[in-house]
Amino acid sequence: MSFNLTVPQIFSWTIQLSAQQDYQALTHKFLDILAEIPWIDSATAYEIYNHERKKPGETGTVHELLIRRFPLDFTRNDEQNHNNLLDGLDHSADLNLSAPDESGLYTWAIFSIKGGGGPERAIHLKGAFEQEMLELLSNLRRIYRNLVILHDTKERDMLTKLPNRQSLDARLLEVCEHYSDYQIIDKQEEKSSWIAILDIDYFKRVNDDFGHLYGDEVLLTFSQLMGKCFRYNDFLFRFGGEEFVVILNLASQATAIAAFNRFREVVANYHFPTVGQVTVSIGLTHVNGISMPSTQLDNADKALYHAKYNGRNRVILYEDMDALTGNDDSGEIELF
Ligand code: GH3
Ligand code: MG
Ligand code: MG
Repeated sequence: MSFNLTVPQIFSWTIQLSAQQDYQALTHKFLDILAEIPWIDSATAYEIYNHERKKPGETGTVHELLIRRFPLDFTRNDEQNHNNLLDGLDHSADLNLSAPDESGLYTWAIFSIKGGGGPERAIHLKGAFEQEMLELLSNLRRIYRNLVILHDTKERDMLTKLPNRQSLDARLLEVCEHYSDYQIIDKQEEKSSWIAILDIDYFKRVNDDFGHLYGDEVLLTFSQLMGKCFRYNDFLFRFGGEEFVVILNLASQATAIAAFNRFREVVANYHFPTVGQVTVSIGLTHVNGISMPSTQLDNADKALYHAKYNGRNRVILYEDMDALTGNDDSGEIELF
């Protein structure tokens, strides 16, 4: 049962953890390290989203806890509901433990990692731990938490806390690589992914009329509306300024267009404090494993330009543009 922890071992773990370039790689490495410890049978990571939302027509707020398993598998619906993981636990504690069994061993432990710009994280360990092993777990938790906070700072936008442009590039590459394994791409299939650029209409006027602080408030509220409207297996980003990106997964073309139109309507019908009504234009395209990710993003941008040019507050699919423009060369226009 005892585990001879040596100084070289601790250095090796610390070096491996600190060498990881992003949050995803860090978490994979941390889980690998935990799995190396003989008295740990399994280690699983979760992300916990604590949504606060107003019920339509009601004044009270509802708290919704959404727990996603790491890594998120965007290629399938996660049927397992992890939301009862924290039932009955002290949500504010850094470490929750099972009651000790007859031999004084704990059979599970849940670490909580809070304080970064991202969601709260939890690491669920199963095994048989003695009291004295808890110090090692607690120290490992602290190293991992410090690194998570650093990665959140680098990978997330400070205002909205959404993943930033740099995270988008890595994620889009991952999604494209997944589709490069498929020879036949059927856009009508519910299993497609779509990339959309969402650009707030006439946002400069919001800043000019109400000031930058109210502008920032609109950006924050807009990102929160995104969080509520899209599904747990979609990827949301702040692209920069008043532009956001959504990679919508597991959707057919019709479902994707409907989802973006629904979001567009939610924004148009939302009363932003002081500022009032704000609208959004959206350009989207099908994600494939053939063209360069940058080309696909560029195509979504072209569709967005088309939406702007044709009156704003609308959703345009890049693949429909030829029909809409009579095949003019809207591809040459680069305004964004
Ligand atoms: P369009 O409908 O064509 O998109 O018009 P627009 O005014 O939204 O577009 P434009 O690109 O001319 O202006 C975008 C504005 O967004 C300009 C800039 O002042 C503002 N902006 C960019 N980043 C931020 C930010 O972080 N906070 C605030 N408050 N404003 C920002
Ligand atoms: Mg813009
Ligand atoms: Mg704009």
